[in-house]
Amino acid sequence: MDTDHVDRLRREGRIVIVGASLAGLTAAETLRAEDFEGSLTLIGDEQYEPYDRPPLSKAVLLGKASANHTELPRTRDIDAKWRLGVPASGLDMTAKRVRLADGDEVEYDRLLIATGVRARPWPKQAEAELDGVFVLRTRDDAAALYRHLEARPRRVLVIGAGFAGSEVASACRERGLEVTVAERAGAPLVGAVGGVVGAVSAGMHRDNGVDLRTGVTVTALEGDAAGRVRAAHLSDESVVETDLVVVSLGSLRNTEWLTGSGLGAGPRGIACDAGCRAFDISGIVTDDIFVAGDVARSPNALFGYQFLSLEHWGNAVAQARTAAHNMISPSSERRPHLYVPAFWSAQFGVNIKSVGVPSMGDQLMITQGSLAERRFVAVYGYQGRIIAAVSFDNARWLEFYAREIERGAPFPVEYPTVDRRPEGAQPMPSDFPDPSLPTHGPTVTLTGYSPADRRMVFTPARH
Ligand SMILES: Cc1cc2nc3c(=O)[nH]c(=O)nc-3n(C[C@H](O)[C@H](O)[C@H](O)COP(=O)(O)OP(=O)(O)OC[C@H]3O[C@@H](n4cnc5c(N)ncnc54)[C@H](O)[C@@H]3O)c2cc1C
Repeated sequence: MDTDHVDRLRREGRIVIVGASLAGLTAAETLRAEDFEGSLTLIGDEQYEPYDRPPLSKAVLLGKASANHTELPRTRDIDAKWRLGVPASGLDMTAKRVRLADGDEVEYDRLLIATGVRARPWPKQAEAELDGVFVLRTRDDAAALYRHLEARPRRVLVIGAGFAGSEVASACRERGLEVTVAERAGAPLVGAVGGVVGAVSAGMHRDNGVDLRTGVTVTALEGDAAGRVRAAHLSDESVVETDLVVVSLGSLRNTEWLTGSGLGAGPRGIACDAGCRAFDISGIVTDDIFVAGDVARSPNALFGYQFLSLEHWGNAVAQARTAAHNMISPSSERRPHLYVPAFWSAQFGVNIKSVGVPSMGDQLMITQGSLAERRFVAVYGYQGRIIAAVSFDNARWLEFYAREIERGAPFPVEYPTVDRRPEGAQPMPSDFPDPSLPTHGPTVTLTGYSPADRRMVFTPARH
């Protein structure tokens, strides 16, 4: 893009952002901070101005914060036209127009797509519609769930023990409610951190009074005559009597509105280059459509150019800033989104943090503390490199490991570390489930193909 063109764009261009949440707002603020003077339109299907989601499964469920007071802080005036409560329903890439569900159309010179993900609903619609069955993604979901928790259900059933499901279970126990958690894998958090660390989480659930059922799936939800949920049937033929069910089966990417547009968008998100420019369906990079946040799928040089889909707060912010900068910069000044994934969670009084991509790591070492004490750092390795670190109540070390990941530091970790125990001397398998099996709640999805990936095993068919 030549400099004259960029100058004109910065002075009088039209930028449209679809998705008015964390990534959308951050991009808008960045555009204005970088002196974009043209027109800015934010389109959001929720009726609310951007709000923060992490408190929804933590402070809000405990009654320590109200779902209605989770607005994201504003760092500056963005002088934007807001189109809230109306979804974008289509995209015409040739005419450079976004269609809205109310029939309106908005033209753009640059478009940012930040439509995020939504909660995966319970697959059987009639059962999903029973009174007392919830998902948790939006402010309205959290407010409704909170109201039902206030009514003190006899037993809460959480389906899926990823991070979100585990946080809900933790909040329920803190409120003194009986909770059953049903998880398909052998332990909670397995998709995100593997079986070794997942086993620690299982201990936390059980010691805090959760009735944790692993290696099972919920096969049906049953309602009473009034249409209220009353029981759940499990694959081991057991029945759990429950009057409140939280379905926590991961998420679906909000890309359906782009069907037929010619953009490379689908169930795995919207593929983009390292500079956040979206690909079209032929795999050719566009120069006027950018993507950021949970809906994006982008290659990361730190992780073998795997395309990463990250459902992480910090990624949404960093990627939105990069996308916004690149939207109004000449090619020579564009930056790659080179981000070390980072994630946090709080459950059962334990602070959990993760940097890097644990699910790429086939081995781990406990470099500090101990699994038994539930206070440790687990460092994950892949092909001789440190690829991730997860801490339980030991977060202060993670910045160090983030830098180790960035510099491609060798694995196994042989240097001495503070509070290293004999159990941390040797690497062990990190025990991730077969990636082809569904697991609940991974917050990083590896969607690319790396020729160096040796985890694919050819199993000949039996005759
Ligand atoms: C309960 C909960 C707890 C979480 N806890 C943590 C945590 O502890 N740590 C952490 O790192 N991350 C956490 N996250 C994840 C974090 O909140 C997300 O990574 C972040 O919200 C992503 O921001 P985003 O703007 O990309 O997407 P979203 O926040 O999903 O926003 C996308 C917006 O686009 C809207 N939209 C969708 N389709 C359309 C359309 N066609 N037209 C117009 N608008 C549309 C959506 O309704 C939504 O408002 C949590 C998420 C949830 C739900």
